[in-house]
Amino acid sequence: MSQFPYAVGGIIGGSGTWGARFPEDLGTDFTVVEYLAPFETPHGMTAPFKLLEIQGARILYVGMHGMYPNPREIIPPWIAAKQIAWVFSQYGVEWAITGGSVGGIQDLAGNPLSPWSIVVPDDFRMEEIPLPTADRVARSGKSEFYRLGQPFCPSLSNKLVRAARAESQEQVLEEGIYACTPLGRFETSAEVQGLKQFGAHIVGQTVGHEAVEMVNHSIHLGSLNIVSNYAENGGIWVDPQDEPNSMAEFYRSCPPLVGRIINVAVRTILDEGVRDCGCDKYVLTGLESFPVEGA
Ligand SMILES: [Zn+2]
Repeated sequence: MSQFPYAVGGIIGGSGTWGARFPEDLGTDFTVVEYLAPFETPHGMTAPFKLLEIQGARILYVGMHGMYPNPREIIPPWIAAKQIAWVFSQYGVEWAITGGSVGGIQDLAGNPLSPWSIVVPDDFRMEEIPLPTADRVARSGKSEFYRLGQPFCPSLSNKLVRAARAESQEQVLEEGIYACTPLGRFETSAEVQGLKQFGAHIVGQTVGHEAVEMVNHSIHLGSLNIVSNYAENGGIWVDPQDEPNSMAEFYRSCPPLVGRIINVAVRTILDEGVRDCGCDKYVLTGLESFPVEGA
């Protein structure tokens, strides 16, 4: 038996709600049940979490992808994702959604993807395989491995798309490829052109890691991404409206919309459940250890 209470779902906050307290500042239906201190996990100390309630269901929340434990440090996203998956698993979390922001590369027809567009990706590309720094971790005891043929849950994605279309007048892409690039800097024009040729629609630095860890813990994942800029997209970025603080202003103005979409999507998830998604088809069993002693 877990020492933790049950929470059915998890929300991994990202830059889509960076500029506000979730849920306190956003006028949603979520209430805060408890502010949770950082957890000690096999992957190090986490950022603080919140235990929320909506429609009588408990939901765990962590801000900024769990990367900000305090004002002085950043936890790399590939470690933070392991920590979040560990905490979610202790609480029995069954599904999770992310609320990030991304650079826009192209829409499904190859046209520029403008700020305020929303993309719910169905696949990702990891543009960096992170070195396993500080990452020699205890085996989880789980006896399953997962293929990544379906990193995002179609049932959750469907609910995020419907919520986004109900709350936003902007373009909403119901599929797309998220390019997950190295943490710590933006991309060059040449890099974005390369990502475009590889078929990427949006670029960010976190969700690829979260997808891997959620899949590995049998937690269905849906990812909501609001486009905050044109990336370095063939000069499109050079816009007379752009000011040095325009991205900061974007991040301060987008949380109410992102919060409303998450609110509507979570209500729908709770009403309809997560069904017929096929996420469990990608499990592989029997690979957890050497098949014969001494191998
Ligand atoms: Zn699923």
